[in-house]
Amino acid sequence: MKEIILVKYGEMALKGLNKKTFEDMLTKNIKRRIKSLGKFVCTSAQSTLYITPESEDTDLEEVMERIGKIFGIAAYCRACVCEKSFDDIREKSFDYLNEILSYAKTFKVTAKRADKAFPMKSPEICMELGGALLEKFPNLTVDVKNPEVTVTVEIRDTNAFVHAENIKGAGGLPVGSSGKALLLLSGGIDSPVAGWMMAKRGVHIAAIHYVSPPYTSDRAQLKVEQLCERLTDYCGGIAFYCVPFTEIQEAIKDNCPEEFFTVIMRRLMMEIAQRIAEKDGCLALITGESVGQVASQTMAAIACTDAACRMPVFRPLIGMDKTEIIEISRKIDTFDISTLPYEDCCTVFTPKHPKVRPALSDIEKAQSAFDFEPLICRAVENTELKTFNFKR
Ligand code: ATP
Ligand code: MG
Repeated sequence: MKEIILVKYGEMALKGLNKKTFEDMLTKNIKRRIKSLGKFVCTSAQSTLYITPESEDTDLEEVMERIGKIFGIAAYCRACVCEKSFDDIREKSFDYLNEILSYAKTFKVTAKRADKAFPMKSPEICMELGGALLEKFPNLTVDVKNPEVTVTVEIRDTNAFVHAENIKGAGGLPVGSSGKALLLLSGGIDSPVAGWMMAKRGVHIAAIHYVSPPYTSDRAQLKVEQLCERLTDYCGGIAFYCVPFTEIQEAIKDNCPEEFFTVIMRRLMMEIAQRIAEKDGCLALITGESVGQVASQTMAAIACTDAACRMPVFRPLIGMDKTEIIEISRKIDTFDISTLPYEDCCTVFTPKHPKVRPALSDIEKAQSAFDFEPLICRAVENTELKTFNFKR
C-alpha cells in the first residue's frame, strides 16, 4: 500500500505576508534532513506539506523520526494513498487502519474535501465510512466528542488520503527563519538546552567553546563536540569555534583579586564571543544561565557580565529550575553526554569565596589593572573552527 507523510505547519501558519518564506525554509530543512533516505516529492497546500516517497521501500519510520525533531511543525502523520473513489477509500481504510481500529473502543471520522468536484460532501463521507467501519470492526462505537481514534479522510487534487494518527511535532519556527546567534556551549547540562530552546524559535545556532589545556583535557572538548553533534538533529549544521583560553585564565589569576575571578573571566568570554559572532554574522549570544544557580549567576553578577556585552544576550533558561532544565535535556538526549565527568574551564582556578554581589565599578577597576587586549586578540586569532552536521 502506498503511503505518504503529511506535515502540518506550526505557528508560521499564522504569519501574514512572509508566510511563504517560512514555508520555503521549512521545506528546505525537511528535504535536507531526509535526503539520504531516498527520493521524495514535496508539495504544499493549505498549511500542509505532502511528502511522497518515490520508492515504496523507503524507511518511513526513520523519516518520521527525523521529522519529529524539525522545528516549525505542529503535527505530522503517515497516510495511505487512495484513488478518488469512495470504494477505494473504504477498502484501503479497512486494510490500512486494521491494527489501530481492532484494538480501539471509540472512533470518529472527519473529512476534508479540497476537491469540490468529488461527488460526496464531507458529512456524507463521514457517515458512509463511519458506517462501514462500524460494520467491519464490531468492537467500535462512535464518540464524536472524545474518540480514541480519529480517522481523517482528505480528498485532494490527485488522490485521497486516509490516516488515523496525528503526532505532535517539535513546534516552534523553522531553523534559520530568525537569523543566527552564537551559543556559549560548555559541557554542562544547561547550555545545550539553551541552544535547543533558541533553535526552536527559528534561530540558527553557531557554538563557541573555551578550553584551557592542560587544565582541561582533550576528552572534555570531545564531550562538547559530541553535544554539538547531538544538537544538529534539531538545529541543522553547527559551526563550532574552539577558543584557547589558558593564557587569559592565567592572566586573570595572576593579576586580579580572587573574589572577582569568575565574573572577569565571564566578561572576557563574552568579549571574545562577540568578536567571533560579529565575524560570523551572528546577531546575539546565547548562554545557559539561570538566576541564582551559582555565584556567577546572581542578578548582580549577571549585570556585570552584561555590561561587557554590546549585542543582545539571550538566556532562555533564566527563570527555569534545574529540574525543568534536566527534563528537557533528557528529552533531547543531551543529558547523558552532559553528565560525563570531564572538567570545564570554568572550574579551573575557581575562587573559594566568589563575590556574590559584585559592584560593576569594582569589577571594571580590577579588570583594567591588566591589559587583556593582546591576549583577547591572540585567542580570537587562534580559535579553531569545525563544522558539525546531522547524521545522514
Ligand atoms: P552549563 O550547565 O551550561 O555548563 P553551568 O550551570 O555550569 O552551565 P556556568 O559554568 O556558570 O554554569 O556557565 C554559565 C554559562 O556560561 C553556560 O551555560 C555557558 O553558556 C557558558 N559557559 C560556561 N563555560 C563555558 C565554556 N567552557 N565554553 C563556552 N561557554 C561556557
Ligand atoms: Mg558549566
